[in-house]
Amino acid sequence: MKLYISGTCPVDGSIQNVYFAKIPSSGKIFFVCPMCKLAWSMPPEPTILDSLDDYKDYAPQGFWLPSRDDISRAALAHLIIGEEDLDKESLKKAILRMLAPGYEQAHGN
Ligand SMILES: [Zn+2]
Repeated sequence: MKLYISGTCPVDGSIQNVYFAKIPSSGKIFFVCPMCKLAWSMPPEPTILDSLDDYKDYAPQGFWLPSRDDISRAALAHLIIGEEDLDKESLKKAILRMLAPGYEQAHGN
């Protein structure tokens, strides 16, 4: 599974990446920090914490990880600053807890 990076989290001192996420029902893209579980409609400024929305406010059942095509279709590809394989154990655990049911079956690993 691949994660697309939009920036760093203002809560975690700019050491934790913020990733693209997708609402399964609508396909709408939002942004999430897997460590503090906060979510944003646009990538947060790394030094400005101006909202404290939980990812469940966006995707109550959990989110899916968007493909680069999903992100392009949403006209947000210019916000991708990097990508990362989901192979770090702590990150993988955090992300898997937040994914909507069915994602793993549909997308493998
Ligand atoms: Zn965070």
